[in-house]
Amino acid sequence: MLIQIEDFIRFLKEISIENFEVYVPVKNNQEQEDNISFQKLSKDTECIVLDKYRALDPTKLFLYPPVEQLTPLVEHNKKRIICGIKNCDLSAIDVLDSALINDDFVDPNYKRWREITYIISADCNEVLPTCHCLMVNKNPYPDTGFDLNLSRIDDKFLVTVASDKGKELERLIEQKLSPAMESKDIEKKVADNRKEMIEKVREINKKFSFDRKYEPIDENKARELWADVSENCIECGGCTNICPTCYCILLNDETKSDEFRKIRTWDSCQYYGYAKVAGGATPRPDLWERFRHRYQTKFIRIPNTFDRMGCTGCGRCISVCPGEIDIREVVQKLQ
Ligand code: SF4
Ligand code: SF4
Repeated sequence: MLIQIEDFIRFLKEISIENFEVYVPVKNNQEQEDNISFQKLSKDTECIVLDKYRALDPTKLFLYPPVEQLTPLVEHNKKRIICGIKNCDLSAIDVLDSALINDDFVDPNYKRWREITYIISADCNEVLPTCHCLMVNKNPYPDTGFDLNLSRIDDKFLVTVASDKGKELERLIEQKLSPAMESKDIEKKVADNRKEMIEKVREINKKFSFDRKYEPIDENKARELWADVSENCIECGGCTNICPTCYCILLNDETKSDEFRKIRTWDSCQYYGYAKVAGGATPRPDLWERFRHRYQTKFIRIPNTFDRMGCTGCGRCISVCPGEIDIREVVQKLQ
């Protein structure tokens, strides 16, 4: 179905009052191109940019919050819509799903957040200099992993439905709006837009090789090489915190009189204290080892364990790094 963009936003505002908590990407600062972040939608929300490029904040914020009480369990029942998610972040949710809801292990909190969350994705219509989804064999538009997807055609969205949750939203749309039917011509326009975006991502990354897939990085590579690529790292943990596929945590027990709470917080494998055990021993005492650990997790361990790439090409770790370390350059050098 085809919907005017302004009608679609009006629809989101209406259901955010009646049925759902809705989160949308909002441009915070017209001067800074990268400065788009998710905000809870209200009737006064302005500068909504549903289909530009990925937001600053990773979508794991909604499904795997930075600080979360695990025990006693906190019930969350209000249904939520995260609208405007891009394909790199759908791929990241796919990684988290594999790690946190599988045959051996289910994270009850994550599963609950997933159940009450509806995902409306959108094709990218612009790219950032750090975007490199093509390098990890993804596209700047989604094929799967969404409930509804939005593809812009001039001042309208082509809305694609892909799940039961999507059908539920479709029924709500039909109750409140009068969507037009799509045509062959529309499909071609969407395909042309997508092709154009692929070309833009390719152009941005032309100095990096697209012919080579990421190969497992040889564990025995010289220490000098890892020391060289990690030279500017100051161990701030920014790259892991902002990464949509990183899910390492610390568990903390808190007691107060007769109350007990178990709290989970994000951890970072880049910190010296990560994986430190009683007696003070740590498996990766040197910074270059911790730096290597992150790359090996993204490009070897996650693919070997969950059969998907641990990096989605979102480029956030490049934007955030105070040492100006670019994951594309590091991988290229290591290859
Ligand atoms: S963001 Fe950069 S400086 Fe900070 S830990 Fe990651 S690689 Fe190191
Ligand atoms: S490693 Fe960097 S580019 Fe890859 S998913 Fe994480 S933040 Fe994005």
